[in-house]
Amino acid sequence: LVSIGEQIQRFASSQPDKIALIDDALAEHKGRVSWRDLVTRVNRIANRLREGGLKTGDTVAGLSENSAEYVALYLGVLTAGGCMVPLSGMASGDTLALMVNDCDARFLFVSAKNEALLDEIRDKLDKVPHSTRIGLDFRPPDSALTLDDWLADAPGTPNPAKLALDDPFNIIYSSGTTGTPKGILHDHRFRYRQMLRMGTYGLDGVAVNLVSTPLYSNTTLVSALPTLFHGGTLVLMAKFNPLRFLELAQEHRVTHAMLVPVQYQRILAEPDFDSFDLSSFKLKLSTSAPLRSDVIGEAMARWPGNIREVYGLTEGGISTTLDCREFPDKWDSVGRPTEGAEVRIIDEDGHELPRGHIGEIVGRAGAMMRGYYHREEQTAEMLWTSPEGLAFYRSGDMGKLDTDGFLYILDRRKDMIISGGFNIYAVDLEKVLLEHPAVADAAVIGIPSEHWGETPLGLVVRRADEAASKADIMEWANARLGKTQRLAGIEFRDELPRSTIGKVLKRELRAPYWD
Ligand code: ATP
Repeated sequence: LVSIGEQIQRFASSQPDKIALIDDALAEHKGRVSWRDLVTRVNRIANRLREGGLKTGDTVAGLSENSAEYVALYLGVLTAGGCMVPLSGMASGDTLALMVNDCDARFLFVSAKNEALLDEIRDKLDKVPHSTRIGLDFRPPDSALTLDDWLADAPGTPNPAKLALDDPFNIIYSSGTTGTPKGILHDHRFRYRQMLRMGTYGLDGVAVNLVSTPLYSNTTLVSALPTLFHGGTLVLMAKFNPLRFLELAQEHRVTHAMLVPVQYQRILAEPDFDSFDLSSFKLKLSTSAPLRSDVIGEAMARWPGNIREVYGLTEGGISTTLDCREFPDKWDSVGRPTEGAEVRIIDEDGHELPRGHIGEIVGRAGAMMRGYYHREEQTAEMLWTSPEGLAFYRSGDMGKLDTDGFLYILDRRKDMIISGGFNIYAVDLEKVLLEHPAVADAAVIGIPSEHWGETPLGLVVRRADEAASKADIMEWANARLGKTQRLAGIEFRDELPRSTIGKVLKRELRAPYWD
């Protein structure tokens, strides 16, 4: 294994002045950090962590918005041989404390912006030693250190830990859209393979990758880590804003971006979109939720470069990809399994289904998570064993494979609506609703029905200048839906609740109807 900590050392000497990071929020040097400066900072952090007692495999939690300092910390932990636990600033205090304690963090780093959150959880942190709670760029009230204080005269000499493929790389807590967060443990093997594969999509030494989703999410890491591993450049946004995204993309001649579907919609809707020079774009990636084919069509027509849709779970094991340029007639699908991966569809009894049939998606790949941290039982529950004795991961998603082996996602199993004995997949209904000219956004959920058990309800965000009524939209949609799929009602919403990574929070939408 050439670990990422070892790999980046070479960029400090082979391309010291090349820009590694551009942090949009940093005024100094226009936010630019060279590979020399980045690697020196990384080595200082790594050396100090080890001096502070960090051993290979020990966990270090970090809570920060995207910033150059946060990237240095992440790489510093990995270079020291530690396991990084990136935390979400959107999580509640209780959830954060739960995660920090659950992952056995030896050190905790918190950025200035999250100081209030740290205050809230300070008394609940049972395991992290006081002396290792460190501010990134601030001095918390209990006189914990700032990162600079803590680094003091730590040397920048390269001394990356020698690691094995099995050594832990990170723990990422599932976003909790479907339950209590679980720590997903990835090892170096998992990330190493992923970084090499993403390199084949051009996330390499000449990539300029604009990062506008949070670094604590796996979605972001999937594209950010390979860019660093191959010596490219990351442009960092602490907070996504479509206009600023376009300005940065033009200014820095950005070649790559990993975006979630709602970002495509917001960027394309920018009034001045067509006035930006986006000719440097080679590839945009999309993941985490369905990318509508009309959005793919618009982006392919107006935004230079290709689009690659990626489907997968943070847990790994299931991974498909669709090259949108190569397969224009498959835009409704999420493509085919990546090299070395395999996808099958099973029914409720765990029997494999033939192509064309709808069931739960299961998958396996060369690299999967090590497991949920300290949760062997839940790890085992995720597994499905094939008749040949191979271990597959259950996705919790319903889908089907077509005759060419392309995968179609229909719904999360938990979101599926069972009405009068029929399975209704929200995606089919949402697709029809979104075709209505007055509909800007739509989500379909199941609500209780005395007669049917459950029945579908459409939650619709209307376009600003449209006056279509609920009845108009329902009638229009029901005329296009199958008999068993018909909507029982429509309700208007100003917007749909989404996670920080842009997923519609169906659990939240459903709750008031079921409580
Ligand atoms: P949890 O609720 O378990 O915390 P999560 O949203 O955090 O879930 P992730 O691993 O981030 O879990 O996301 C995986 C899920 O995202 C998949 O199971 C699928 O439902 C959805 N997903 C990912 N990529 C795509 C895609 N390209 N198209 C449609 N859905 C996708």
